[in-house]
Amino acid sequence: MTTDNAETNANKPRLQTDWSAMHFATRAIRSGQDPDPTTGSVVVPIYQTSTYRHDAVGSFKGYEYSRTGNPTRTALENALASLEGGAWGLAYASGTAAAQNISYLLNPGDHLLMSNDIYSGTYRFYVGTFARYGVATTVVDMTDPVAVAAAMRPETRIVWVETPTNPNIRITDIAAIAAIAHSGGALLIVDNTFSTPYLQQPLALDADLVLHSTTKYIGGHSDVIGGAIVGNDPDIQADLAGHQNSAGAVPGPFDCWLALRGLKTLSLRMDRHCENAMAIAEYLHDHPAIDEVFYPGLSSHKGHDIAKRQMRTFSGMVSFTTRGGAEKAVDVVQRTLLFLLAESLGGVESLIEHPAQITHISVKGSEVAVDPSLIRLSVGIEHAEDLIADLAQALA
Ligand code: PLP
Repeated sequence: MTTDNAETNANKPRLQTDWSAMHFATRAIRSGQDPDPTTGSVVVPIYQTSTYRHDAVGSFKGYEYSRTGNPTRTALENALASLEGGAWGLAYASGTAAAQNISYLLNPGDHLLMSNDIYSGTYRFYVGTFARYGVATTVVDMTDPVAVAAAMRPETRIVWVETPTNPNIRITDIAAIAAIAHSGGALLIVDNTFSTPYLQQPLALDADLVLHSTTKYIGGHSDVIGGAIVGNDPDIQADLAGHQNSAGAVPGPFDCWLALRGLKTLSLRMDRHCENAMAIAEYLHDHPAIDEVFYPGLSSHKGHDIAKRQMRTFSGMVSFTTRGGAEKAVDVVQRTLLFLLAESLGGVESLIEHPAQITHISVKGSEVAVDPSLIRLSVGIEHAEDLIADLAQALA
């Protein structure tokens, strides 16, 4: 039987797509990622071009120069905005570039209040680099709303939260901190890298901006570096988009395409990351060599109730301390076979690291220094039994 596809398709009624009414898994695959208008290509093409022909002076098809905008990047920005429930998204060359772009919302004399457990690069940029421009940054325990309220200053413009935190896996009540930030006239930024929009949507909890290192779960395959900011306020979008273009730390089209490809399977991967992490956290919790396990899925975790309220499940990141202190921690991270000793997180393969000497070495001796007996796991999507067997032999 032959079918005239062109005619069949032409006669089909066109659905009006209201993405906001659809489920996450559907939006991750389709929202912002319409077939290419010129060829019908189902996959958003890699528009590997730096520039675009103008029809005439003052007349062009929406793109002038790929630092300012690129169709592959637009698709990623729109897809991320849809998944976070935001009105707009902006993509960057790294999560750190996105964090730096936020700094352009601040002026000399302003104050930024930051979590005292945080990705070291964020702290390093604001306290080490940006402070010279007259913006003060102080840190506070974001799990304690009373302490946060007390740390607010009249000149506080931004409150910066990570939840769960890197590397101690602490949970912050986003809605409670949003209320404190807003009552002081500050914006709340949530670094949602550890949760992803599948597990947690900070904008719905009253945050103003969401930040991602798309290098992690969104890319999902440890093969791309990227970052993003998502929000609702059109004035902030105009401001940040201007700074994104002026500062120029934008992702290339191939990197955007890799992040988009990762996004399509985000919900499937996150379900397995979370299942595996829960199984591992329970195993470690009962292990005689373990001192403490930090995983919000455990009812013993201090932030368990808040995490249950604001997250779908509890992410793939698990940290723990052993009874042997720092020396034992270094020994364990060098003994695993499946868990690769490496920085970063959120890929399909499991990673293990020693934050005090690897990811957070740059904040050694500072107010956000990490306990040297801490081990951090990024639990991948391999079979949980194999991962547990690997940890068992490393801890033996
Ligand atoms: N935010 C968090 C929570 C991170 O863990 C990282 C990197 O590890 C970043 C931001 C920075 O992202 P990138 O490495 O893409 O610059």
